[in-house]
Amino acid sequence: MSLNPEIEPPQADIGESLPGKPPVGRLAPSPTGVLHLGNARSFLLAWLSIRQQGGKLLLRIEDLDGPRIKAGATEAAIEDLEWLGLDWDEEIRIQSHRLPLHEKALQDLISAGLAYPCCCTRKEIEEAASAPHEQVSSGDHPSETIYPGTCRGRWGSMEEAAEATGRDPALRLLVEEPAIPFFDDFRGQEEGVLNGDFVLSKRDGTPSYQLAVVVDDALDGISEVLRADDLIPSTPRQLLLYRHLGGIPPRHIHVPLIVGPDGKRLAKRHGDTSLAFYRRQGISPEEIIGALAHLCGWAPRGARLRPADLVAGFQLDRLPSEPMIWEDERYLTADH
Ligand code: GLU
Repeated sequence: MSLNPEIEPPQADIGESLPGKPPVGRLAPSPTGVLHLGNARSFLLAWLSIRQQGGKLLLRIEDLDGPRIKAGATEAAIEDLEWLGLDWDEEIRIQSHRLPLHEKALQDLISAGLAYPCCCTRKEIEEAASAPHEQVSSGDHPSETIYPGTCRGRWGSMEEAAEATGRDPALRLLVEEPAIPFFDDFRGQEEGVLNGDFVLSKRDGTPSYQLAVVVDDALDGISEVLRADDLIPSTPRQLLLYRHLGGIPPRHIHVPLIVGPDGKRLAKRHGDTSLAFYRRQGISPEEIIGALAHLCGWAPRGARLRPADLVAGFQLDRLPSEPMIWEDERYLTADH
């Protein structure tokens, strides 16, 4: 089924991309803060993979997360990418400019009986889910709260739900088949188990990341998604949306996250690892790229490189499969 005529109908099975066509990839920063080393590493790998295959790389600014969007963060992200030497093709896509298309996809899902209004508050969901049998842990990933399906089949329409509860409803996708196995081109076969009906549009009416990313990737013909493996739980959700909305699902490549010496995702507690901070310290983009290449095991410590220097030798299977541990003093030269 293809609900959205603006998206090409499916021509291949989940996880397959069309053979013989140069890939189309994307860099998709969210302007919710400054770009840091973790972003730079993922963007560098996404850039290298596409450039090596002679494909097309798009830049999409994912600016739908209203309350978390920071003024000036889009311009700063663009400046950081340019500073690093990562370029892109075609005009920059701004996710919020496509709201009417996201809205259309939502309406199509409602009309097909695949989406329903949900008026539950976060607290109600947490309470309902705190019963031990409602918690799951999916191996590598921390347990997520499962939506227990309270509003499934409960309301005839968004309006009815709003009137009955006095609350603005969110919209959830009906997940009837939780297993969406997929092949990851770095990690291999993934189980892809979904834990419940997930949000398609938030209570303020904004499309969720899952919905917007699929509509946008499909419209842009994205055939390769390379991103950090903290997004793996999103992939089966996105593949299910491809099934419903149409479009050819991309090839997925999830690479290990960069963590601090304590094994936790690189964050403020590990010190400032923003690109802006390093730049202010007088560190050059060549040192950052060199340090990231060293982190990936491709270059000696202290190497100074441009992204283009790494294109010919880029090989996914030469990436470490363990989380990459970042320590400034180990990766950046100490002469600053
Ligand atoms: N905008 C998302 C983020 O910054 C990335 C989305 C994606 O790669 O699918 O986390």
